[in-house]
Amino acid sequence: MSLLSNYLSQDQFCVLFEYLTPSQSRFPVKAQLAGFPVCVTLADRVHSDNDAAPLEISKLYPENVEKLIHYSGKGRDIEDFVQFLHQAKSQGQGNLLLLTGDKLKNHQFGDDGAPRTRYLESINAVMEAKRHGGFYIGVALNPFKYTESEKEAQYLKLHKKIKAGADYVITQLGYDLSALQEAQDFLKRNQYSQKMLACVMPLTLERAQFILKKKVAGIVIHPHLVSVLKQEKKEGNESHVYKRCALQILICKHLGFSGVHLSACHKPEEQELLERYIEEYRNLDLPACMSLWNTLWKTQTGKEFIPPEVNNQAKPFPAKNILKYKYLSFIHGAFFESKVSKSIGKIVFKSLLWKAPLVSKFILKAELLAKHIAVACESCGQCRLADTLYVCPETCPKGLANGPCGGTHLDRCEFGDRECIHSVKVRLAETVNQTHVLKENLIPAVPIEVRGTSSWQNWFDADTKEFSKAP
Ligand code: SF4
Repeated sequence: MSLLSNYLSQDQFCVLFEYLTPSQSRFPVKAQLAGFPVCVTLADRVHSDNDAAPLEISKLYPENVEKLIHYSGKGRDIEDFVQFLHQAKSQGQGNLLLLTGDKLKNHQFGDDGAPRTRYLESINAVMEAKRHGGFYIGVALNPFKYTESEKEAQYLKLHKKIKAGADYVITQLGYDLSALQEAQDFLKRNQYSQKMLACVMPLTLERAQFILKKKVAGIVIHPHLVSVLKQEKKEGNESHVYKRCALQILICKHLGFSGVHLSACHKPEEQELLERYIEEYRNLDLPACMSLWNTLWKTQTGKEFIPPEVNNQAKPFPAKNILKYKYLSFIHGAFFESKVSKSIGKIVFKSLLWKAPLVSKFILKAELLAKHIAVACESCGQCRLADTLYVCPETCPKGLANGPCGGTHLDRCEFGDRECIHSVKVRLAETVNQTHVLKENLIPAVPIEVRGTSSWQNWFDADTKEFSKAP
């Protein structure tokens, strides 16, 4: 059992110090912060696509320091992850945080000859790590979502992550305490025993401006926060940054969080300042902490933490998309799920004729022709449409099938060029009463060697291709 799992199972509030992995400078690691036990957590390619591997960097820290290794699925597939698991095991690293990750800085769309960048979904990584056994598995949640569909999509995916085997949850960085409270309520309401940690960071003016300028995926910084930080800088009140961070940590503790994932607080002098304010406020109860937090952020309306452009008007779901769902669902049932179709298909595809390269090519072309116009099929070879309400996962730039990444902004995709397909799926699921499909069906990863083959053939050729799922 790892120390981290001990802390969480014994409700010992802990602090995970996050370090990025590009720099060679190592900061001394404290054994505790204001009496809370400390772990080091090593991020995966946050600074650049070419950051050093967290497993390598972990060797630079003393053995007795408890570590949490991040693994991000960007630009990777399931084989890469299996290799990583073997390495982690041989190094004795059992604490993992499995993420899909934000977009690769050098993301390729695959439209100019270069292969399309693939992303290993966190859910598939959790399933694989669970299958291997011996890991303490963390997953992420972004609770800072402000349309019904993007928020619902996050929580539906969290249900799946927990079903896949997640042991604990770490939230995205954010300052909206009501969203953090909602995340805690979700665990309680669903009687999940998983523990949750909140990501916090001392928010300086420079960091807020950096996040806004770089449009860091999934982080919400309201203009009000920037104007408070600007004014504080002018007045020389920058210590308020650490006061608020201390308060946020204590508020999270009051709300039932099991710890915090602390970003950008590496230097000893920053940690000392934070520690000083935690000690100063340690005995305040929740209302007193909240009141001081609101005073320091100069809140007036209570809306100072949510995006100013939020519009809660429900969008009507287009009738043509409902018809399309019904039509494709009927075709799937009739041609691929019924007993008769399965028996006929198996007999037909048993013939060696279908394995001939020319015939295989023909089927692949026929499938692409039939499905490309309807759903923008890309011949992934393992059709998942029945589990994604006939919205093709390949139309998500990251190719995610199980649910959204954390990067949406008011339903817009992290890539900025479309509505997130998972928000669309949520709205469709609610309209056709199929939300359980998005909550329960764990969709396996597509192995690379299967891409570019016919899912029709794979579906019926059950002896060799058991993974195939739909038409
Ligand atoms: S469509 Fe949604 S899940 Fe896919 S990259 Fe865009 S925001 Fe992320």
